[in-house]
Amino acid sequence: MLSDLELKLCRALDARAGDLLADLARYVAIPTGLNHTPGLDELRGLLTDRLRALGCTTDLIPGDPRPDWLYAGDAPPGTHGTHGTHGTHGTPASHGHAPAIPPTARARSAANPRARLGPKILLVGHIDTVHDPRGPFRELSFTPDRRVVTGPGAVDMKGGILVALAALEALAEAAVPVEFTFLLNSDEETGSFHSDRALAAEAARHDVGLVFEPSLPGGALATARKGSGQFLLEARGVSAHAGRDFEKGASAVYELARALVRTAALSDLPRGLTVNVGPLQGGTATNVVPDLALAWGNVRFPDPAAADHLARAIDALATGPAAVPSLTVKRAFNRPAKPLTPAVERLALAARAVSESLPRPHPMPFASTGGVCDGNILQAHGLPTLDTLGVRGGDLHKPTEFVEVASLVERAQLVAVLISRLASGQINPAA
Ligand SMILES: [Zn+2]
Repeated sequence: MLSDLELKLCRALDARAGDLLADLARYVAIPTGLNHTPGLDELRGLLTDRLRALGCTTDLIPGDPRPDWLYAGDAPPGTHGTHGTHGTHGTPASHGHAPAIPPTARARSAANPRARLGPKILLVGHIDTVHDPRGPFRELSFTPDRRVVTGPGAVDMKGGILVALAALEALAEAAVPVEFTFLLNSDEETGSFHSDRALAAEAARHDVGLVFEPSLPGGALATARKGSGQFLLEARGVSAHAGRDFEKGASAVYELARALVRTAALSDLPRGLTVNVGPLQGGTATNVVPDLALAWGNVRFPDPAAADHLARAIDALATGPAAVPSLTVKRAFNRPAKPLTPAVERLALAARAVSESLPRPHPMPFASTGGVCDGNILQAHGLPTLDTLGVRGGDLHKPTEFVEVASLVERAQLVAVLISRLASGQINPAA
């Protein structure tokens, strides 16, 4: 059952259905993929303006550099020139200028003594997408039945950010006191290396985390996520002419291959551990014994013990530095596993109760996923977090990415009622 206040919140959001769609079209048309600085700056500015209109104070937290050995990602050729090196997007080596490191925007709610009763809420959204700003997929468009819109970043996660803002605006109009911080980062799709420290620091200052990644299929809530890590195996040998003096060479490719065969044995599907390798690089010509070979990889694991096990096994692939050929390991297990904890379960059950009592009730099954998001980082720093509170839709990261239009209002209602229950102390994740 919804209270009078909650019904009022829901009606206010119903009345904003047209605005929500118009805002989504506007935000989707601003390209924010592949670290496109002008688009990121523009969208960040629009969103922080809206938060300031709610009385928030805002600032920008400078980003940290990414480890320089990470693979440059799946950017289309030409958007970075670093294949063949260990660089990242637009490294000095490739472009002659430093890559732009995007900041994280932080908005804090105005001081409100009445809000001190409830938990401090941290809302987190990422404004970046995976879509090429110069590609053909640039705008929001309706499918023929008009129930679904497609657009780059519409579901992941501009729709989710919009839902969160609309909910906060409805709560402010209804004079519901809420103590919150909203973080908007710009590098979630590339691992949140720039924003990791900002996310961790704010996680430690709050009591509940809400992240607006798209809902899982059918409106399901992700209550457990695997963790994820990146690694690089770098083999170094001695080059030699493959015909004249093969015996003087030491092949980095064979050294790497021996290590890769060992990584293949590390996956353990029943335990939920996976090790994926690719891309690979090695050698320059078929008649030269290669002196350098590289393999990038990704691991997924369900809990800290599994992460430790994989970290030790991958580190053990390294030879000593004096070995010829040699193999070195670099790794960053930057997104810890996000297991279902009692506090998360209490929050998830509360969210489900809200979803089932909305004017247009929606079931909210619970699910686990191997995908990672900023919720992994928040919860690893002690913040119980729900991270799939965004819109319903699908085809994330594809040129068919879509949003169910009705979910804009419905998820805004879900978030508004959930936050109002948190703020009033009706939902207490601690007990
Ligand atoms: Zn996302």
